[in-house]
Amino acid sequence: MSNLRRSFFDKLALAGRQLYAHALPQSCVLCAADSGPHALCPACEQDLPRLPTAHCPVCALPTPQGAPCGDCLQQQPAFDHTVAAWSYAWPLDRLIPAFKYSGQLLLARPLADGLHAALRDAARPDLILPMPLHPQRLRERGFNQSQLLAKAVAKALDCPWHQDVLERIKLTPPQASLPREARRTAIKQAFRCRQALSGLHIAVVDDVMTTGASLNEVAATLKKAGAQRVDCWVLARTLS
Ligand SMILES: [Zn+2]
Ligand SMILES: [Zn+2]
Repeated sequence: MSNLRRSFFDKLALAGRQLYAHALPQSCVLCAADSGPHALCPACEQDLPRLPTAHCPVCALPTPQGAPCGDCLQQQPAFDHTVAAWSYAWPLDRLIPAFKYSGQLLLARPLADGLHAALRDAARPDLILPMPLHPQRLRERGFNQSQLLAKAVAKALDCPWHQDVLERIKLTPPQASLPREARRTAIKQAFRCRQALSGLHIAVVDDVMTTGASLNEVAATLKKAGAQRVDCWVLARTLS
């Protein structure tokens, strides 16, 4: 079967699995309690590890009294501000990969709801953009998890969003497989912005911020296109 046809049938199977799952009462994926039509029961959703309230305003790493962290003081990233709903710890280090790589799309709702709740006091941007996937990764995976999140959050906040303004033009190895310095080198020139963003405040939605290398490169690309401010909105922040 050609790659194109395989990708089509993969997507069909994914859509079918999602439809089937929505039609049935679910057991919470963490504790197996009855969770109605949802992937997580309310107690497990409530217990997800919130990010400490005192954290660096730029990159969201926990700091005493919420001061900027040493790394951001030493070298200001291209982005201006980060909001993260949770720490990337158990069980999010299982739930987010399950959502992203295994097509567990029922997890989209609780994850997007958590990000929306964390954005209660956030400044509203002019435009929300999802972290783009390279077209080859999109074909392999069948969907872009950041796009599902960006769409849900944009709807909840009544903000405009766009899926095609930012594109990924360089296929890089999965960032998780690379050490910190290699991530920065690999991601250089990986993105392209397809329209001028003069003076705009942009929020970029992604699943996890680890070193921030990808989001830094995206923010640099958006600023080159004229963006005045770039915020990162992520589900979870990896704590070093
Ligand atoms: Zn549960
Ligand atoms: Zn920082």
